[in-house]
Amino acid sequence: MKRSQELLKAAERVMPGGVNSPVRAYRGVGGTPPFIARGEGSRITDVDGKSYVDFVGSWGPLILGHAPAAVVEAIAETARRGTSYGAPTELEVRMAEAIASAYPSMEVVRLVSSGTEAAMSAIRLARGATGRDLLVKFDGGYHGHADSLLVKAGSGGATFSIPDSKGVPAALAALTLTLEFNDIAGVRELFRQRGGEISAVIVEPVAGNMGVVPPAPGFLEALREVTQAHGALLIFDEVITGFRIAYGGAQERYGVRPDLTCLGKIIGGGLPVGAYGGAREIMANVAPLGGVYQAGTLSGNPLAVTAGLATLAALRTSGVYERLERLGTVAEAGLTEAARKAGVPLTVNRVGSMMTGFFCDGPVTDYTSARRADTKRYAAFFHRMLELGVYLAPSQFEAAFVSLAHSEADLDLAARAAAEALKTL
Ligand code: PMP
Repeated sequence: MKRSQELLKAAERVMPGGVNSPVRAYRGVGGTPPFIARGEGSRITDVDGKSYVDFVGSWGPLILGHAPAAVVEAIAETARRGTSYGAPTELEVRMAEAIASAYPSMEVVRLVSSGTEAAMSAIRLARGATGRDLLVKFDGGYHGHADSLLVKAGSGGATFSIPDSKGVPAALAALTLTLEFNDIAGVRELFRQRGGEISAVIVEPVAGNMGVVPPAPGFLEALREVTQAHGALLIFDEVITGFRIAYGGAQERYGVRPDLTCLGKIIGGGLPVGAYGGAREIMANVAPLGGVYQAGTLSGNPLAVTAGLATLAALRTSGVYERLERLGTVAEAGLTEAARKAGVPLTVNRVGSMMTGFFCDGPVTDYTSARRADTKRYAAFFHRMLELGVYLAPSQFEAAFVSLAHSEADLDLAARAAAEALKTL
């Protein structure tokens, strides 16, 4: 860790906490984050030469693993023709078509440069299209760091116990109403009281930022029904789940059609991209067609779209999602069995290739039950796993991701490491 420690010291002099995104600083688990020098397939290697089996995958985008040849070569070829023009390109058309054909709810798509922009723009559009100001989100849901969405937010908000960020005007935060995830009765009651003022409900259809929490049976269907009945829009934030839990995301897997969808992560293949889209009629409100303004210098950037297109092409190979499901099942079994043998209370939630082991008794169905997890125990587990060469998210309230680059041997190594780590807790 010598070189990482030196780099962290240098980084802390010139960057807040030494990082460009807070959870990377390891404050949730303590210790020094290894600085990463390279990644290949399922593995990353730090600047001190230690190699890890990686279950973070850059927080979700790397469903093919690190530096897949097809993606790297496609990026290089595009780069030789220039990296950005600020003018339309054919690549953008192909990406929007690829998204629209996989997500029938997204007839028209706008590309942006991050998940934050996608969610921020989608809620502006929802407000513009409905003429209403209120927004409903769920406790522990994370939709990027736009002001309206940093209310009871998960991810780093959960890790650092700052779900309500300073700097967000109270008057704006007051327009964001929050409910417990999976609380159908709560949703119905809120809409009974204020349905006519609500522009949209935004939800991670499978929560990933309070740790993984699947939707209760009927929850997504109820959101669809209630929003429709009150003239509000339903926004699925599929920044994590899009192209991960099925090619067509949660909306395909659960058969619920939202009005607007946010994508990110996988559609950028490891480069910065986001997207939002919906029915033609709603999207007609976006500039230059309509009065909802949204723009971006690097939106639809050729390199990022190239990486995304190459990634989506690989995901259209047959058997890919079956393999992800199988690998997910094996990873879940390994962790569950290790905890049982060690007598450690652990609740594993998994949907496809996204999974979280909560250090508490189950079930974990919402943010309140997720918060019961023993974060000190998670921190001890995390550090032991790191020593044993397994790279997990440095926070209890995040997902572990399995990629197509993981082998059965990688999962076996992780299961044996977990058994050893849990035994010594
Ligand atoms: N929505 C969800 C569900 C996310 O998980 C994230 C990021 N983890 C975002 C939005 C924000 O995306 P970005 O970090 O690319 O801005």
